[in-house]
Amino acid sequence: MSYEKDLEEFEPVIGLETHVELGTASKMFCGCATEFGAEPNTQTCPVCLGLPGSLPVVNAKSIESAIRIGLALHCDIATWCRFARKNYFYPDMPKNFQTSQYDEPLCTDGYLDVDVDGSVVRVPIERVHLEEDTGKTLHVGGATGRIHGATHSLVDYNRAGIPLVEIVTKPVVGTGVKAAAVAKAYVAELRDVLRGLEVSDVRMEQGSLRCDVNTSLNRPGEPWGTRTETKNVNSLRSVERAVRSEVERQAALLRSGGRITQETRHFHEDTGTTSPGRSKEEATDYRYFPEPDLVPVAPDPAWVKELKEALPEAPSVARKRLVGRLGLSDLDAAAMVNAGVLDLVLATTQAGAPAAEARNWWLGHLAQSANAAGVEAGELAITPAQVARVVELVAAGDLTAGLAKQVVDGVLAGEGSPDDVIAARGLAVVKDEGALTAAVEAALAADPDAAEKVRGGKVAAVGALVGRVMKETRGQADAAAVRVLLLDKLGVSD
Ligand code: ADP
Ligand code: MG
Ligand code: ZN
Repeated sequence: MSYEKDLEEFEPVIGLETHVELGTASKMFCGCATEFGAEPNTQTCPVCLGLPGSLPVVNAKSIESAIRIGLALHCDIATWCRFARKNYFYPDMPKNFQTSQYDEPLCTDGYLDVDVDGSVVRVPIERVHLEEDTGKTLHVGGATGRIHGATHSLVDYNRAGIPLVEIVTKPVVGTGVKAAAVAKAYVAELRDVLRGLEVSDVRMEQGSLRCDVNTSLNRPGEPWGTRTETKNVNSLRSVERAVRSEVERQAALLRSGGRITQETRHFHEDTGTTSPGRSKEEATDYRYFPEPDLVPVAPDPAWVKELKEALPEAPSVARKRLVGRLGLSDLDAAAMVNAGVLDLVLATTQAGAPAAEARNWWLGHLAQSANAAGVEAGELAITPAQVARVVELVAAGDLTAGLAKQVVDGVLAGEGSPDDVIAARGLAVVKDEGALTAAVEAALAADPDAAEKVRGGKVAAVGALVGRVMKETRGQADAAAVRVLLLDKLGVSD
């Protein structure tokens, strides 16, 4: 728990670099397909393999998508810009350079407002530019696909040349103890914006949205500290944990008089900590130069204006509307955004559940379950429609609150739909009058003291008897109905 303490002593600066794989049908500079999971090296051609003499042509759709992303992030759109060659050798990069953008990015100087604990933090955007993805190297023979211990490596160029958009924030300052939460909220909001634009499927676990998290610490009044760059963080939760872990590591090092090395770091999901990658002490010289094989990009301002006017509603605006419609308080809405369940609550209401019930499930038992499992609520193995079905069964008196939780747990454990779980586990409410009456009589006989107290006017003592009946029926009776039945039998009215 040193994170909070560390940020009383140090000021954090964070910066996020996010790569988004665009969902275009074809690659960035050739006509090859982009489908995920195809047989290795079946989606390649002379251009994306970098064969001599092949010439690239820019995919117009990727330019359009990048501009729409820039506009949604309130950026200025260049009226003229060029691609640049970033030269370096890597086995999964067949051309020995990556076609990217350098000093002439397509979009610059924007921002994204994110909601953290009910207050808005403006994250400034430095640039949005286009580049191409590399291939993928597969290390064979070692443990868990690592290069260490591998006997040989294979290269799959299907991904080489898939359009990527890189979105780089300016340094985000002044977030204090909220730094980790801001980083997570930013990536979550960005993901929602991108999803709304329909430019990418933004699947962090499949790598179509990847994030590098920069973190530094300085003492108040001093210049910014040296940053580290935690690479390829692939879940929202990990973004938050990566910041926390770097803050704790750097603070301990700085306090002991140590020095932060400028380097990349790897995040480990299992331990929640980072380990050193490659040093960035000496700036790599990529020998950038303008790409001679491609014409400059000069988007017509009238077209950009059209794109801007056709942008979908921002998720933050849609959310506000939704909150109004569901009659939620600002506090509730903030809690739901934080827990990442607002869309799930909406979907649950659309599947027929009252807003209050949907809210209670997603902020209560389901949020706890997600937390315990270390996943986002949206990754739980239950659908909004299934939650709505449970709500419906409770309303119909077929499930009690306690049984409903057991049903949901069954669904989460992969036992099927709510109805499947009820059938398999035998969880339906006992409605059989005879069985209930027998349980009530057994309870009265077992605890005559309590029965006497109730008869004497101490109605609260009925609780003990209700408890007995519930135990007898293994929780499958409706407690409210049992109470009425007991009072009736004892000749007492509420
Ligand atoms: P590189 O290519 O070395 O990763 P970029 O300019 O692409 O450099 O990205 C650097 C990221 O780090 C940006 O998001 C920037 O805002 C952020 N950043 C810069 N200085 C600091 C700092 N002192 N602490 C934290 N983040 C920083
Ligand atoms: Mg970078
Ligand atoms: Zn190709």
